[in-house]
Amino acid sequence: MTVQIGKIKIGGPEFTVIAGPCSIESENQFRTTSQSVKNAGASLLRGGIWKMRTSPTAFQGLGESSFEFIKKVKAEIGLSLVSEVTDIRQVEEISSFVDAFQVGARNMHNYSLLKDLGKQEKPILLKRNFSAYIDEWLKAAEYITQGGNKNVILCERGIRTFEKATRNTLDLNAVVYAKKHSQFPVIVDPSHAVGIADLVSPLCYAAAAAGADGIIVEVHPNPAEAKSDGDQALTLENFDTMMVQLKKVLHAFDRTLTTA
Ligand code: PEP
Ligand code: MN
Repeated sequence: MTVQIGKIKIGGPEFTVIAGPCSIESENQFRTTSQSVKNAGASLLRGGIWKMRTSPTAFQGLGESSFEFIKKVKAEIGLSLVSEVTDIRQVEEISSFVDAFQVGARNMHNYSLLKDLGKQEKPILLKRNFSAYIDEWLKAAEYITQGGNKNVILCERGIRTFEKATRNTLDLNAVVYAKKHSQFPVIVDPSHAVGIADLVSPLCYAAAAAGADGIIVEVHPNPAEAKSDGDQALTLENFDTMMVQLKKVLHAFDRTLTTA
């Protein structure tokens, strides 16, 4: 099946690239990043408004103070936006300018949130929890579809293993398994999976070669200054280079990028 976010169809023959900052930090940062990833071939934007941070004293996202400039930048750039909701009350607040809601890894088991999201119409990008079995992830998707909303996109974002050299371990098994055993589109988040910017691009190519329906990648104009996940953010230039190589990998599999 395909799931449509704005004008973009995910899950067909084409490969969809979603890109943008981990957190939306300022009008300027969001505009610069969005314009640049669009020019490089991304067809959807990502950007956090409310962040699920490990530490309660870490940056929690701009929240409501960003709404007006996000609308303005989105209208200028002309791409649809995927953003995480951590509470069902946020859906109403942002539904006029957010085109798909992300359920973060930490909320994959928040069944009351999943049920509520199943009763509204916008597509849901469902991250796999870092310690969830594939089966638990697929059943979490059913919590959403049971409410009537069939528009779920699964996202593998790395799981916890014994390995500590990288932030998580990208489970490509889960990608090919979910493609075979579920009807939903499956995308890969290489940024949270590996956690190290220099290692993100090869995992983007691996996702394409493994038959994923797309990727969601963190990009920042100045990763050293990022308020969240700077270590794993591609620079604008890194992202451009990655996209050139990615197109070659897709070509080898007779696939192309989704175009906006
Ligand atoms: C994110 O996308 O920035 C994020 C917090 O992802 P995850 O829920 O996969 O950790
Ligand atoms: Mn992040």
